[in-house]
Amino acid sequence: MTELPGWTHTYSGKVRELYVPDESPEGRAIVDRHGDVVLVVASDRISAYDFVLSPGIPGKGVVLTQLTLWWFGQLADLVPNHLVSTDVPEAVAGRAMICRRLDMYPVECIARGYLTGSGLAEYRTTGEVTGIPLPEGLVDGSRLPEPIFTPSTKAEQGEHDENVPFEGVVSLVGPEVAAQLRDLTLAVYGRAEEIARERGVVLADTKFEFGADEAGTITLADEILTPDSSRFWPADEWEPGHAQPSFDKQYVRDWLTSPASGWDRASNSQPPALPDEVVRLTQARYLEAYRRLTGQELTLPA
Ligand code: ATP
Ligand code: MG
Repeated sequence: MTELPGWTHTYSGKVRELYVPDESPEGRAIVDRHGDVVLVVASDRISAYDFVLSPGIPGKGVVLTQLTLWWFGQLADLVPNHLVSTDVPEAVAGRAMICRRLDMYPVECIARGYLTGSGLAEYRTTGEVTGIPLPEGLVDGSRLPEPIFTPSTKAEQGEHDENVPFEGVVSLVGPEVAAQLRDLTLAVYGRAEEIARERGVVLADTKFEFGADEAGTITLADEILTPDSSRFWPADEWEPGHAQPSFDKQYVRDWLTSPASGWDRASNSQPPALPDEVVRLTQARYLEAYRRLTGQELTLPA
């Protein structure tokens, strides 16, 4: 774990490390300056099917962080977010954000404007996604008549997230918060989908996490609208009826489930190491997502 003066490590997620200010003079200075905050550090780890893979993707933590910061700027008028400062320790420069510490809602707030992945699988068996009935005849990659909120529960470590109907969210957080999470998710998705489309990128679906601040204000947290949390497709190649080319993690998922990897998903065993080529092409996709969306080139630290 990277030692950071003034910060103490509190949590390792699959991708991120969380730190809070400690009792040292440096830690007290952080609290005096920023209040009740958490340092969110994005590593280069990549996860798929709820496994952390090896090796990591060099520069990925920087891409996720910089893209999240760009989106926070684009969406600031729609919803409050957790960002406080990017004045972070040198050792994690570019891949960390000082954020308000929130009480997180145990819900993955997913918006889908297009049908694929676990949504498509559910539709094929029930004609619905998380209890929302959809028209007949939709195929892989179809655009939905309107974007839908398809939440899932945040699983304990080692377990898989599970799609739940809206009522499942109501029973977790109550009817008022559930309705606000749904409305915010769809509002943010709607704006982001428009922005992405103007830049030639289809934002097929995405996942948000929200938390409550001290005053109870629902606040957008975590990373947002990155290739880890979203499906990004090149708009000029979009063609429903089959899997779409993408600038996201799908490439890694596809490699893992292809015969080339030798991995059997049903076995629930640790997937094999990613070949250099897969690492390189994944990095290129993440950088391309950043480039297309922001119109800027991201230079990774050596
Ligand atoms: P988890 O470990 O929670 O199952 P994960 O493996 O996806 O999920 P990461 O994304 O690697 O975890 O770590 C980020 C963690 O930080 C998540 O648990 C997320 O809910 C939490 N988080 C993000 N923003 C905040 C915030 N502002 N305050 C508190 N926690 C936050
Ligand atoms: Mg996460």
